[in-house]
Amino acid sequence: MAVFSPNNTLVPASSSLFDLSDSSQLRTQSIFGSKAKSGASERAQLRLWAVPKRGPGLKLQAAKEPPELTKQIKEDKLEVPTVTESSTDLFDELKQRFLSFKKNKYMENWERYENLAKGQAPKFMVIACADSRVCPSSILGFQPGEAFVVRNVANMVPPYENGPTETNAALEFAVNSLKVGNILVIGHSRCGGIRALMSMHDDVETSSLIGSWVSNGMHARMRTKTAASHLSFDRQCKHCEKESVNCSLVNLLTYPWVEEKVRNGELSLHGGYYDFVDCSFEKWTMDYKGSELKDQNDQLSVKDRSYWC
Ligand SMILES: [Zn+2]
Repeated sequence: MAVFSPNNTLVPASSSLFDLSDSSQLRTQSIFGSKAKSGASERAQLRLWAVPKRGPGLKLQAAKEPPELTKQIKEDKLEVPTVTESSTDLFDELKQRFLSFKKNKYMENWERYENLAKGQAPKFMVIACADSRVCPSSILGFQPGEAFVVRNVANMVPPYENGPTETNAALEFAVNSLKVGNILVIGHSRCGGIRALMSMHDDVETSSLIGSWVSNGMHARMRTKTAASHLSFDRQCKHCEKESVNCSLVNLLTYPWVEEKVRNGELSLHGGYYDFVDCSFEKWTMDYKGSELKDQNDQLSVKDRSYWC
């Protein structure tokens, strides 16, 4: 389930997304272009969002119940939530959001979007979970053109030898065509995919697509079981959420063209962990020279660790 920013649209290989003829010209442009030409602006009826007011001391609190993914997998059933809004209402909201974006962002930064229409040259590739609460553009403020994003269950990178997936197809394009300088893998709190990984039996449940996918993180699970078996299951999952990010970073090096660029200093690999319970973000960078990774049992060395809260 790849999602290609900036236009959040899955685009076939023949589309202009893959036309990079002018991408190099974009690297030096400023983020914000000049004001839009008012004559080109389309008239639109816009309805403002009703934003709930929050007091300055309001404590952010996510839902207390963990995701039900694991339970759903085991019981092979999905509970359909009560629908309180019609499809028309939902799409009317999306229409208003789009028209607001067009008026306030697109038309106000016309030159920037005109250049982006010619090609893209993002500095980042971001690999994040498909969880709806973990939106890289929202939490890190990526603007259109700044990050090439792929999202999958539990933000995993399968090793090179496992063969093609949407994730490593996007990786190949980002590294070899877009020539991004940074890959950021973002894990997060209360990840349903990681709970599924930690709940599964040691032998992979091949009958489940989710089970088969998250087994890409089996090494993170084993490391967690070794290091944190004395902790509660919830704490083990939290440990594994971060361990799986490191597992993905190590797996990135199994791709020869990634490893070569990292070794030459053309590409940096970063880990991130977004905790939406207390709204904090932890970031670290792989220390390639310090790691000397020969196999997955070696310890990953990191540097430039910082904690944003
Ligand atoms: Zn997740």
